[in-house]
Amino acid sequence: MVRGIHEIRWNPLIGGWIIVAGHREKRPWRPSEKAEEKPVCPFCPGSPETAPYGKWDVLVLPNKYPALIPNPPEPGPADIENIYEVMAAKGYCKVLIETPKHTGDLHDLSLDHMIKVVKEYIKEYVELSNIDFISYVAIFRNKGKEIGVSLIHPHSQIYALPFIPPRIQIELGNFKKFYDREKTCLLCRIIREEKEIGKRIIYENKSFILLHPYYAMWPYELHIYPKRHITGIDMLDNDEIRDLADILRMTTAIYAHLYDRDMPYMMVMHNRPSDNKDYNYYHFHIEFYQPYRGKDKLKYRAGIETGFWVFTYDGDPIKKREELRAACCKALQDIDHLGECIG
Ligand code: ZN
Ligand code: ZN
Ligand code: FE
Repeated sequence: MVRGIHEIRWNPLIGGWIIVAGHREKRPWRPSEKAEEKPVCPFCPGSPETAPYGKWDVLVLPNKYPALIPNPPEPGPADIENIYEVMAAKGYCKVLIETPKHTGDLHDLSLDHMIKVVKEYIKEYVELSNIDFISYVAIFRNKGKEIGVSLIHPHSQIYALPFIPPRIQIELGNFKKFYDREKTCLLCRIIREEKEIGKRIIYENKSFILLHPYYAMWPYELHIYPKRHITGIDMLDNDEIRDLADILRMTTAIYAHLYDRDMPYMMVMHNRPSDNKDYNYYHFHIEFYQPYRGKDKLKYRAGIETGFWVFTYDGDPIKKREELRAACCKALQDIDHLGECIG
């Protein structure tokens, strides 16, 4: 491979790493969904990619067009000394296929099936965290063509990175500052206070709350917080694994019931970093961003958001919350659940 097209470059202006992945240009766009053209889904059972694994419920595969690989080419050169920095694109990119079924969302899986998915997230988080050059395991799920998903078959993604992502760095800094000042965890405090106020919690089961945060950046943003203070998904006990499966299903069901149609979203898991330092001040959580701001109106991440990192919340937070609550009540009638709609 030509040097310089697959490496990790430092952006000295913002102080963050960029993954250069020239080979990903050839990444395929969505396979045809027209009936007359035979669909070729690499994640369906029997495809050349999945066939070697026989019968499966949940399957983890290496990403076919990985941004990071365990044996990357030698990087560089970084041709302005003391300013430009470069490192090898060393890491792992995997896909977690959540079901053999080609369509659907998390709430279409049974609770038992969803428990298997959560256990697979945990297994990958632990295994990849144990690799010495991995500093962060980023688990996320993109859904919907609106946010550029190239394959519709239900799947999550896992990037095992040799650095800690900037957004996590910012959260860590703020959790640490709060902990030093208040001698308690920021999210433990928010959970306690929000439970007292009650109004922003949309759904709750024994181990988790689903919050429409005061500090939401997307109109229908939702956060899942474990009530117990844990720093990573690997610390969940069996009851909590079941309850996480439940609240993940409820969250996607709420989005599906907002406008009674398939909704796109991004789901990100915020675990502690994997570099073996002490992060006991951090609190594991999951965030969902939904790109619509109204029935047919997309909110775009445009100039102000991308170029300045300033978010405008386009909407009335109280109205959005009531819409989410109504969708939650509807969703409860449709799917089995372990918790209840709050408010
Ligand atoms: Zn498929
Ligand atoms: Zn906490
Ligand atoms: Fe977070």
